[in-house]
Amino acid sequence: MGSQEPIMMTRVLLVGGGLTNAVTGSLLRRELPHVELILWDKARGAGGRMATSRNPQDGKTSVDLGAQYISATPEYSKLHSAYYEELIGAGILAPLTSHIEGMRETGEHTNHYVTPQGVSSIVKHFMKSANMDVRYGHHVNRIDLSGNKWNVETKEGAADTFDAVVLTMPVPQLFGLAGTVKDTLENDEKLRSSLLSVDYSSRYALGLFYDEGADIKLKNEVSAEYITNDSVIRFVAIDNKKRGLDNGAPSVVVHTSVPFGKAYVEETTDDVKPLIMKKVQELFPEWPEPTYVKCQKWRFSQVTSAYPGLPGCVSLADGLVIGGDGFTHSNMDGCIESAKSIVDVVVQYLKKGS
Ligand code: FAD
Repeated sequence: MGSQEPIMMTRVLLVGGGLTNAVTGSLLRRELPHVELILWDKARGAGGRMATSRNPQDGKTSVDLGAQYISATPEYSKLHSAYYEELIGAGILAPLTSHIEGMRETGEHTNHYVTPQGVSSIVKHFMKSANMDVRYGHHVNRIDLSGNKWNVETKEGAADTFDAVVLTMPVPQLFGLAGTVKDTLENDEKLRSSLLSVDYSSRYALGLFYDEGADIKLKNEVSAEYITNDSVIRFVAIDNKKRGLDNGAPSVVVHTSVPFGKAYVEETTDDVKPLIMKKVQELFPEWPEPTYVKCQKWRFSQVTSAYPGLPGCVSLADGLVIGGDGFTHSNMDGCIESAKSIVDVVVQYLKKGS
């Protein structure tokens, strides 16, 4: 028998394990069933800014530290009906039934949903349907073109070669990458200034966990509240109640105001946590001490100024695509829109080369 050339599978690397790449993976899997899909994220788990954090003391209760609920306008309910139906059918989304005090009125026909298993379950759902090789603790720091392949390296020392690479980290983090990304951003002034115009708010979040039976309430028995007259705290939710689960040990999420987030963005979470805790105690003096507190800094929280023209994604070079909510808007529909345009670009590129 003569020697045979090994058949090389087309390999696509998705960098970032948030919602945009989860949906990108799921759509790519349908479009290109035989492509090898690999996802790398620097974090320890799935979700990105749709993060759900577990209480390390019981491993059961959790809080959503980033996105809180999903709001679908009539336009997006229609445009993305297949996604909503899939998530509702799988029990990932359920209608918001509790009251959120001070919620911005987005029109009476906007549908609001909660995630009974936590908001990261949306991301995990799409990752699962993408059937990808998912690796955490992979912080990409260098991407280089070699022939028509992309060599990607991580801070931790992993290195591999791919036919196409998709990056969905918040836009300012692209400027930390060495290799072709850096060269492209240095040489293309228009692209560089468009990327520099993408801006995000900053916030801190606290996740507070309590003993079962702890009496944690907001006034008028609401599940969550936007606070308008405080400089530190902007939003508070009793997470299990917000998700429609009125059992188990209570957990609370607190988001700071954007001005507070901006003022303290260069501080450490260890320094900022006691300041927010002090405010929680002032605003809710009757609450008992939490048994565990997690503090999260969102340096890049929600997009306040998106990439000009909202293209959904931008191709930096053949087979190197950047996307995410910075190219649309910060919510589930924005991520789906970005994922759809990423998939169009990647599929077109790979089909051209095959
Ligand atoms: P991300 O979720 O940011 O994913 C990017 C991923 O890239 C991250 O997991 C990160 O770890 C990874 N990464 C970064 N750099 C690297 C690297 N060099 N190598 C490897 N991995 C890397 N949306 C709503 O719909 N409803 C809400 O109520 C809502 N509230 C919000 C409240 C807060 C406080 C925040 C922070 C966000 C909120 N959002 C809300 C917005 C929503 O969470 C985002 O729009 C969405 O999660 C963005 O997803 P993404 O995949 O584009 O980016």
